[in-house]
Amino acid sequence: MDGRMTRSGDPTLRLAVHPYREGWATHPAKGPVDECGVFGIYGHPEAARVVYHALIALQHRGQESAGIVTADGANLYTHRGLGLVSDVFEKPESMARLVGEIGIGHVRYATYGASRLGNAQPVVVNTRRGGLALAHNGNLVDAPVIRHRLEEGGAIFTTAIDTEVLAHLIVRSRAASIEEAIVDAINQVHGGYALLILTEDRLVGIRDPHGIRPLQLGRLNGSWVLASETCAFDTIGAEFVREVAPGEMITISEHGKLRSQSVVKEPARPRPCIFEFIYFARPDSNLAGVNVHSVRKAMGRELAREAPADADIVIGVPDSSISAATGYAEESGIPYEMGLIKNRYIARTFIMPTQTGRESALKLKLNPLRKVMEGKRVVLVDDSIVRGTTSRHLVKLLREAGAREVHMRIASPPYRYSCPYGIDTAQSGELIARGREVDEVRDAIGADSLAYLSLEGMVKATGLPVDGPGGFCVACFTGDYPVPIPEDLDKYMLEGGKGR
Ligand code: SF4
Repeated sequence: MDGRMTRSGDPTLRLAVHPYREGWATHPAKGPVDECGVFGIYGHPEAARVVYHALIALQHRGQESAGIVTADGANLYTHRGLGLVSDVFEKPESMARLVGEIGIGHVRYATYGASRLGNAQPVVVNTRRGGLALAHNGNLVDAPVIRHRLEEGGAIFTTAIDTEVLAHLIVRSRAASIEEAIVDAINQVHGGYALLILTEDRLVGIRDPHGIRPLQLGRLNGSWVLASETCAFDTIGAEFVREVAPGEMITISEHGKLRSQSVVKEPARPRPCIFEFIYFARPDSNLAGVNVHSVRKAMGRELAREAPADADIVIGVPDSSISAATGYAEESGIPYEMGLIKNRYIARTFIMPTQTGRESALKLKLNPLRKVMEGKRVVLVDDSIVRGTTSRHLVKLLREAGAREVHMRIASPPYRYSCPYGIDTAQSGELIARGREVDEVRDAIGADSLAYLSLEGMVKATGLPVDGPGGFCVACFTGDYPVPIPEDLDKYMLEGGKGR
């Protein structure tokens, strides 16, 4: 690591006030929200159509903007816009002009203030080697510092996203080939990322050295596909081949010839994001060869063993906590009930800067079933507590609907530290478990009891042969950041920390 980086030992105090998270809104009805899903295809006569369907499958990873870039061997063709995939590509002509057999696509989550078309991906640049498009999930922690250095040297940026920093580094590289220029650029940045790069005649996929963000490789008949999650493969009828390894770069060119190389100078310990299992990924996706729903269910079972409750029914917070709630119910023998009904037609209520806005958004989104709740002692299972706002209101809603007792059970440990690797959480100072004991959090949310899944129980529930919590990124629970944050980052923040 270079001299500007801090050690990963205890950056937490600094992060508690770090502007990295300044100004970011958090989803009012859920805690953290993911930022971006990527998909790429090589060698399909209808590449754009396949990318479009895959992006719909990845829509849960970002609803603010979407974009597709295709290539036909000589040119790139682009369409991007703000909104859901179906909105952005509503007009047939937007798809019709995306010709070519290679394509990449992107869905983005952006927060208030950063949601503008200029920040939509894929980012497209013209270089002396031809057109280049980049689609990126995750975050380069040192991008603001590098951007500042590049700007000092005369570089002009048109977006506020770190992907453009990478584009500049690729363009400026003196390496002989485009692949070498990409490796050159990748070796200058640090963070958690899954990156797809499209040139006029090839597709490149790269996963960060720790494998923090996911990237999967698949086959669709004779075509190669790359995606953030395997649910995209199921949707388009592709076959899963394998995960892209941490630090691996895959290049697909010349009639589908696939080349794999490591872009890691020194081997890094794999630390995939455990929150993909807890909340971000779709339950029908597989990560590291295991099904996300099964892991969530196992987390619920483990939670029931660690933190039993004397209750009449178990309910889960839709959608991500349903798997854990059914696991809790099965293990405890307490019947599972559908206690909260979700309004599925509220897609983008997350931009609610005020507390009142967040509360009403939650009421619009979730409604308790009075018939189920009346006179019952309820176990309410959720995947995590971030600010505590949602939990407090859910407990209140259940009591108003007639619940006699509300026992909150959380299928992950206390969430105490912000994520710098591309996940939008509250600032550390806003996290309810930050500096509070479990009893204090319980009192703050108004539950009769509160218990969290242990770190060990969470890791055990994945069923993966890893060496304890160190086999994952668990930084939002422990503050042990696998990729250190530059010490002087706050001097160079992009757009007040909003630009990704
Ligand atoms: Fe995932 Fe948390 Fe690590 Fe961020 S800090 S990558 S959310 S485990």
